[in-house]
Amino acid sequence: MLNIPSQAFPAPSSQQRVSSGGRSKVPLKQGRSLMDWIRLTKSGKDLTGLKGRLIEVTEEELKKHNKKEDCWICIRGFVYNVTPYMEYHPGGEDELMRAAGSDGTDLFDQVHRWVNYESMLKECLVGRMAVKLTIPKGMLPKSQVTDTPAKEGLSSPSYDWFQTDSLVTIVIYTKQKDINLDSVIVDLQDNSFRAEATIKDYSYLIHIGLSHEVQEDFSVRVIENVGKIEIVLKKKEDISWKFLGHLLENHNSFIPKKDRGLYYRKCQLISKEEVTHDTKLFCLMMPPSTHLQVPIGQHVYLKLTISGTEIVKPYTPVSDSLLSEFKEPVLPNNKYIYFLIKIYPAGLFTPGLDHLQIGDFVSVSSPEGNFEISKFQELEDLFLLAAGTGFTPMVKILNYALPNIPSLRKVKLMFFNKTEEDIIWRSQLEKLAFKDKRFDVEFVLSAPTSEWNGKQGHISPAHLSEFLRRNSEKSKVLICICGPVPFIEQGIRLLHDLNFSKEEIHSFTA
Ligand code: FAD
Ligand code: NAP
Repeated sequence: MLNIPSQAFPAPSSQQRVSSGGRSKVPLKQGRSLMDWIRLTKSGKDLTGLKGRLIEVTEEELKKHNKKEDCWICIRGFVYNVTPYMEYHPGGEDELMRAAGSDGTDLFDQVHRWVNYESMLKECLVGRMAVKLTIPKGMLPKSQVTDTPAKEGLSSPSYDWFQTDSLVTIVIYTKQKDINLDSVIVDLQDNSFRAEATIKDYSYLIHIGLSHEVQEDFSVRVIENVGKIEIVLKKKEDISWKFLGHLLENHNSFIPKKDRGLYYRKCQLISKEEVTHDTKLFCLMMPPSTHLQVPIGQHVYLKLTISGTEIVKPYTPVSDSLLSEFKEPVLPNNKYIYFLIKIYPAGLFTPGLDHLQIGDFVSVSSPEGNFEISKFQELEDLFLLAAGTGFTPMVKILNYALPNIPSLRKVKLMFFNKTEEDIIWRSQLEKLAFKDKRFDVEFVLSAPTSEWNGKQGHISPAHLSEFLRRNSEKSKVLICICGPVPFIEQGIRLLHDLNFSKEEIHSFTA
């Protein structure tokens, strides 16, 4: 749908451009880039045809605007005239037309619920829906028919608080045992306290405007065997609190995680280091009043205002190096978050990121992703297939897997790039292979120079059949794959042809 900043982006000479995958980008006409769109929205042109008036839109009215040259779409109760946006949509006009004259919320959420359409389409806002859309029976959006937590054997968490002269402790009883420090995110902003606990696929939120001031730093403790989370706040004044505070939006709610809006906090750029000719290692510092650890295999969204429009893109945090020992659990005072980011000179977001000065701020969302660390249990063979920056999820996997999975016998990375210059952290990978005999790395280049005598081409049966040799017929295997969407699609097809099962493959997508 409105996959405004889509994550698949064909580089000029890339095969990605010919992909038929539903979520891939279509080539846009000259002058129809997202930056051109932003310029148009700032031009003062009347994009709705209503001269700035906002109207109430009935269902009948919405249905009438279902043609390319007159197309309205409703998202979360707001109606947008997307006709002027058609030619700028990276997913193509046909993709946008799937929601023409109707409620596109569900379609939108399926593809990119994180996209900041409110900002991108604000000049296209026609108004609000006059009445709630009636949806034919059996056609309820997915989010409304999800099983309730009770059906999945989860009972709602609860919370309590107590105090001493100098401390206030807020306790969340999750009633689940498999939680850890990654499961809870705490933000304290101007005395508004927000703690979100992830329990399986659900999110429990405590959201309170504290009755008295507290210091910005606090501690978080998880008592795993009873599923208890303790957040200890330091009072600014040693006085007794009569009540914890007033309840804020969505306080004490327990809902599917995918229905919880993304929450952002401002992080400061600490350093920016060149890694290859186009890729940099960015280090951001979390505010002292945030507790957030990104679990292995998950990504966050970075948000920047570019030419007055908020733009959001997903990125996968890495560790600062492949050679540093993995620290688990990450020390509570570990406030740094690292990203390996490729800068696309013609891209919308990355040039903006690259222009940030040390000390500038970027908004970072809470993590998302469906990789489960339990996949590592009893694992013997771990195969990693990465293309370009698709290497990023593999960094934390390597840092975790090698020292922490006793059953592991072999870890192999096949890393696809265009040229030798594009290989991220090549010398670190080679050092790691030298240091740990269980680890091997193979580089495959699609556009090598004549001096290259290693593997060449795109992901292919010849590359994979030789590379993916199990230790023994029965050994437990996991194959992780990440890169451009068509690369992943092609890789998965080949893996199935080689008789690897769905459970043995994990692909990284947004
Ligand atoms: P875009 O504006 O998307 O453009 C990128 C390139 O494609 C440019 O060269 C542009 O000219 C071209 N292009 C754009 N649209 C079209 C079109 N319609 N037709 C032809 N060409 C087009 N990236 C990282 O570097 N590091 C990460 O850790 C990382 N993690 C990710 C995690 C996830 C879950 C996902 C889905 C993606 C991740 N990405 C990562 C990719 C990242 O989200 C962005 O897509 C990327 O940074 C490009 O953003 P951009 O706005 O600068 O470029
Ligand atoms: P790139 O340099 O353009 O490509 C890397 C390698 O992949 C090149 O050898 C390239 O060959 C090859 N390739 C491209 N399209 C292919 C296809 N259709 N079939 C087979 N091989 C193909 O890559 P990049 O610019 O770094 O982009 C990385 C991608 O990974 C982005 O799409 C990004 O969104 C994605 N990513 C996803 C996540 C996640 O968690 N989901 C994390 C990080 C990055 P050519 O020379 O022929 O192009």
